Amino acid sequence: MKLTRKCYGCKQEFRKSELIEYTGLMAQKGQWYCEKCLQEKLDREAFAMKVCQIFGLKSPGPVIWTQRKRLRDTYGYTDNLIIECLDYIYNVKYFRKLKESLGLITPKMVAEMKQYRSMEKARAGSITAAMAQQADLMEREYIEPHEDERREEPINFDDFLKD
Ligand SMILES: [Zn+2]
Repeated sequence: MKLTRKCYGCKQEFRKSELIEYTGLMAQKGQWYCEKCLQEKLDREAFAMKVCQIFGLKSPGPVIWTQRKRLRDTYGYTDNLIIECLDYIYNVKYFRKLKESLGLITPKMVAEMKQYRSMEKARAGSITAAMAQQADLMEREYIEPHEDERREEPINFDDFLKD
C-alpha cells in the first residue's frame, strides 16, 4: 500500500498523515490537501463568497483572481482589506457596479477608506461616551415619586355593577 498521496493543490507527494481531506460544500470525494494548500483553498472560498455577495454573482470570473493576485503581490493587501475596500466603494460611496472588478482598489482608495473607518470609529466612540454620560445623569436625577403623587388605582367598573 502506498504511504504517500498527492496534494490536490500543489500536486506534491506527502505522507498520508500530513494531508487533510477537504469536506466543503462543493467538495468532490478524495480531495486531500497539504496544510498550506488547504488554507489557500479556504481563503479563496471565503473571498469568492464575499465578492459574489457584493457584485451579485454566482462565482467570480478569472479577472477577479488575476486582480486579487496583483493586489496581494504588489501592495501586500490581504483578502480582508480588499473586501473592506470593495464594501467602502460600493456600499458607502455607492459607485455604480459596471462589472465585477477590483480595478477601483488603489492605494489612494485604501487610504481614503481607512480614514473613513477611523473617523467612523471615533464618532461611534463619542456617541457611546455621550450616551453613558446621559444615562448617568438620568440615574442621578431620578427621584422616587412621593406616595401621594402616585397614580391612583384605575376605577374598577365591576364594583359599580355588583349590586
Ligand atoms: Zn499542497
